Amino acid sequence: MNFHLECLDCGHRISPTTKQIRCNTCNGLFQVAYNDASGGKQPRTPLSPGAEVVSLGEGLTPLIRLERTAKRLGIDQLWAKLEFIAPTGSFKDRGTSVLISTALAEGVTEFVEDSSGNAGASLSAYAAAAGMKAHVFVPASAASGKLDQIRIFGAELHAVDGPRQAAADAAEQFVAERGLPYLSHNLSPYFSEGMKAVAYEIACSAAPGVQHIVLPVGNGSLLIGAKAGHDELLSANAVSSAPKFHAVQAENVQPITAAITGTKWQASDAQPTVASGIAVSSPPRLGQCVEAVRDSGGEAVSVGDDVTLEWQRRLARDEGIFCEATSAAAFAGLERLLASGAIGRQESVLVPVTGSGLKEPVRR
Ligand SMILES: [Zn+2]
Repeated sequence: MNFHLECLDCGHRISPTTKQIRCNTCNGLFQVAYNDASGGKQPRTPLSPGAEVVSLGEGLTPLIRLERTAKRLGIDQLWAKLEFIAPTGSFKDRGTSVLISTALAEGVTEFVEDSSGNAGASLSAYAAAAGMKAHVFVPASAASGKLDQIRIFGAELHAVDGPRQAAADAAEQFVAERGLPYLSHNLSPYFSEGMKAVAYEIACSAAPGVQHIVLPVGNGSLLIGAKAGHDELLSANAVSSAPKFHAVQAENVQPITAAITGTKWQASDAQPTVASGIAVSSPPRLGQCVEAVRDSGGEAVSVGDDVTLEWQRRLARDEGIFCEATSAAAFAGLERLLASGAIGRQESVLVPVTGSGLKEPVRR
């Protein structure tokens, strides 16, 4: 193996495994630490050469210009990377492919995951393709389309009353009771390793030197993965500059924005939001999210549900893009970042459109 797992908090190192999720010294989370330098041609992954890759055709999502929206916002260059054009309809599939493939190579046949919906749907699909049994814990309030996806892929759906955190707590308890591997896409370091590929796709795209990436952030796997991918490209001198990453959260659930801006906010302040995909009151990788934004020179903003829903309608009517409300929050955030001057109107911007609108009822 050319890598090991390293605790983010105490630096303790262990041999690679998908089955241990926390550091046995300090209970911290792991990151993948490679022993060799990045070549800059493709993302380093924890998969052994020759290992079977469980793939449903994820990645290489379309990149398009949003001319009308750019005009509306008064900016020169706005790109949308259509992440919802993915096997299960959200950006999660790249991370899932790497996580499930690694687990398969380790002989995992049954596992536990928790999710607000999209990641659960993604892991359920890849588990089906790999011949594994998945137990997926989701809030009972998750969008019906996401619950249908989880069910039809044959996963065992555990719908949990209460906020998103309740589903995570129930999953951890089930793991403790049953002794099953916990392939949490938020806690496992393998998931965000798979997300690095998006940075390579952008570097090889029509917008290789894009200056700003504005994305909705809940647990932050896309932010952490995309930032790590760009860091690999920079260290390999495959690109000359990296974009600033700006995190957008919902006003009703904004732990990362609060940590970055110094706003007073705590998990008990969380309220329901239409942006269910980022309604995470205690993100386990909060420190990594904050570091990714700050290190890139980006900022964090929070947006209200009304403006998020307005942007969901605008994207549909102006651009023909039907995204979920969570994805539209990024555009509401972009508007704020332009107004504050964090993003200049002559600078180029890319927004990943993270999830399909087809999975959830449209709120009016
Ligand atoms: Zn530790």
